[in-house]
Amino acid sequence: MLIDTHCHVHFNAYKDDMDAVIRRTLDKGVFMITVGTQRDTSANGLKVAELYDGLWASVGLHPNHLTRQEFWDDDELPPQAQATPLIKTRAEVFDPAYYLKLAQHPKCVAIGECGLDYYRIPEGVDREDVKRVQEAAVRGQFDVATQANLPVIVHCRDAHATQADLIEEFVKEGKLARRGVVHCFTGTIEEAQRYLNLGFYISFTGIITFPARKGEADGDGLSALHRVVREMPLERMLIETDAPYLTPIPHRGERNEPWYVEFVAQKVAELKGISFDKVAEQTTENARKLFGIIESFLQ
Ligand SMILES: [Zn+2]
Ligand SMILES: [Zn+2]
Repeated sequence: MLIDTHCHVHFNAYKDDMDAVIRRTLDKGVFMITVGTQRDTSANGLKVAELYDGLWASVGLHPNHLTRQEFWDDDELPPQAQATPLIKTRAEVFDPAYYLKLAQHPKCVAIGECGLDYYRIPEGVDREDVKRVQEAAVRGQFDVATQANLPVIVHCRDAHATQADLIEEFVKEGKLARRGVVHCFTGTIEEAQRYLNLGFYISFTGIITFPARKGEADGDGLSALHRVVREMPLERMLIETDAPYLTPIPHRGERNEPWYVEFVAQKVAELKGISFDKVAEQTTENARKLFGIIESFLQ
């Protein structure tokens, strides 16, 4: 029994075989949370979640959808879903009422993914302006999560200090009572520790199955991220695929699938020197607790 706490199994990458992928995953005893990234993927994730026991959804606005970008992700949305075909990725303005309404859905277990992404800010835009827009969207989504009493799924790249400051501000005000998770973590142990102190979970993807880069390996051949996994308390850890992206070894180069989360669990077990079953049991318990999906387990 495992839970892939962050995948996008309702994205365009699965348009031809989504049902088969979901059934294959459920048949292997793996539950899923499929994550929204903007208006359409948030609404559609809930519709797909309605169809399957063992599949839940989150709704949110990813920072990459806040600015007009030159890249187009065919895996996420089909080109016809764009507002204007000439614009590669449209910019969405965060609408709290829209997301709050989606959040009332019984299969909605979190708000997100939302957060700060200073890594993928496009060329030729005012970086400070983009950062302000991202922060406003995070604040808006943290408020929605507080109102809806749901946890948040945080996406953060190259912005952990500011991201943790924002979380701390809300937590100190008594908001974000359900806390949340920082997904696809690739930061340092110190950065992770700040989130843990704020009551957040840390989630790892298939990136942890990748070998240390040249010059990065320590005496044991481990990367900095491997060492973070080794030091992270299992009680505060979640696992995920972020499928269709970030495919773990031994499937690297192929499209990712939610049940590949077992390779992430295997790597955690290997790095910590504990059994696969222990990792499966504890991370499932953690996900169950954070996302409040206990009832469904008892069916
Ligand atoms: Zn993300
Ligand atoms: Zn994601």
